[in-house]
Amino acid sequence: MRLSRYFLPVLKETPAEAQIVSHRYMLRAGMIKQASAGIYTWLPLGFKVLKNIENIVHEEQARAGHIPMLMPTIQSAELWKESGRYDDYGQEMLRITDRHDRDMLYGPTNEEQITDVFRSNVSSYKDLPLTLYQVQWKFRDEIRPRFGVMRGREFFMKDGYNFDLTKEDALHAYNRHLVSYLRTYERMGLQAIPMRADGGPIGGDYTHEFLVLAETGESEVFYDSQITDLKFGDREIDYDNVEQCQAVLEEFTSRYARTDETHDEAIFNEVPEERRRSARGIEVGQIFYFGTKYSEAMGATVQGPDGAKVPVHMGSHGIGVSRLLGAIIEASHDDKGIIWPEGVTPFHCGIVNLKQGDAEADEACEAIYKSLTALGLEPLYDDRNERAGGKFATMDLIGLPWRITVGPRGLKNGVVELTSRRTGESEELPPEQAIARIAQIYGKASA
Ligand code: ATP
Ligand code: MG
Repeated sequence: MRLSRYFLPVLKETPAEAQIVSHRYMLRAGMIKQASAGIYTWLPLGFKVLKNIENIVHEEQARAGHIPMLMPTIQSAELWKESGRYDDYGQEMLRITDRHDRDMLYGPTNEEQITDVFRSNVSSYKDLPLTLYQVQWKFRDEIRPRFGVMRGREFFMKDGYNFDLTKEDALHAYNRHLVSYLRTYERMGLQAIPMRADGGPIGGDYTHEFLVLAETGESEVFYDSQITDLKFGDREIDYDNVEQCQAVLEEFTSRYARTDETHDEAIFNEVPEERRRSARGIEVGQIFYFGTKYSEAMGATVQGPDGAKVPVHMGSHGIGVSRLLGAIIEASHDDKGIIWPEGVTPFHCGIVNLKQGDAEADEACEAIYKSLTALGLEPLYDDRNERAGGKFATMDLIGLPWRITVGPRGLKNGVVELTSRRTGESEELPPEQAIARIAQIYGKASA
């Protein structure tokens, strides 16, 4: 993409309404624009990152064997009356009446709707196990929408639902989700710690929230510091293998890590004092096993091996896709702007032309741009007729992890500059080598 042709409405001033750094940078970098309280338009740069995050979610769900689908945002109230949650959910639910006076709602979550899909189409245990999921907009009429996309009213969420014959099978689905979520967050450059949590309105006997540690987080958390040394890494997991998934669960959840809702001072005090931590965290996901709560209320049964009808065991599992943009920025920024992890960056690298209009510099930039594009990478080429300082400030603000700087003086010596946004370190090297380095970082074979 050439910046002269892109739509990047960068703000010079810091917007007064933004209280936390991720909100400020998302507004300043032209990623989002507030449409009304807690509701945002996703401008091209923000939309690109949102899609990158969504893609990682899809890839990791596919790896775990979960099946994507899409349900509508507007739901009929009938199903919610069946489950009993129409009255329970309260004012967070946006209730709508259509022209025929029918009660509708903008879905805050989809347990009822998916249970209805299930009961209409599945009747035998032979069709289990089954895990269906979607990535879809939700609406919760939050009393205090704030912090930009972190606590929106309209937000993008991955919600998955497992259906199993037995509790044992459903707990395997729970573990499978835990493993897949660990991988998902790590690919986004995040450490999200699974912590014992409370079921809330969804209900549930087993539930973990995934928290990213950050001062601006809304949750208070308590943990054993050893937990931050754990890395999932690139280990290969067979998601059908019950013992393997169980082992990962045990590894990542055996140390003390709880949100304030489940915090127990007496148990916490058994952790050696020097390892006890209390901190703030951002909830980026949650997994639940809630047994037969919805299947019993809504008649979602299957015929078991002995011919008798039994309600299925279910769980639901969510990832806050749009909130993740805020969480990643909270975890990765400096005073100049965002620092995107390579896994989610909107463009793989920036190209800054220090002297637009200089024949040699223009030609070198074009060549680098074409080579990177040919490798399947997406560079953002700042080809505007602007002074270098302004170009650097924009690149630093929007946070591309790598920048290639091209100017007449370097070219005389046959070199360009390759700069890491994270460390600020620069290196002079011939253009081909800079390209090869970028290719290698993103796992692309260079010629
Ligand atoms: P919270 O406690 O933050 O209100 P929740 O526990 O009610 O969230 P879940 O039902 O577990 O939310 O939804 C799954 C994920 O969706 C959450 O882990 C969170 O990352 C995200 N999420 C929930 N509410 C919002 C919101 N208002 N804005 C943005 N993301 C949200
Ligand atoms: Mg939650």
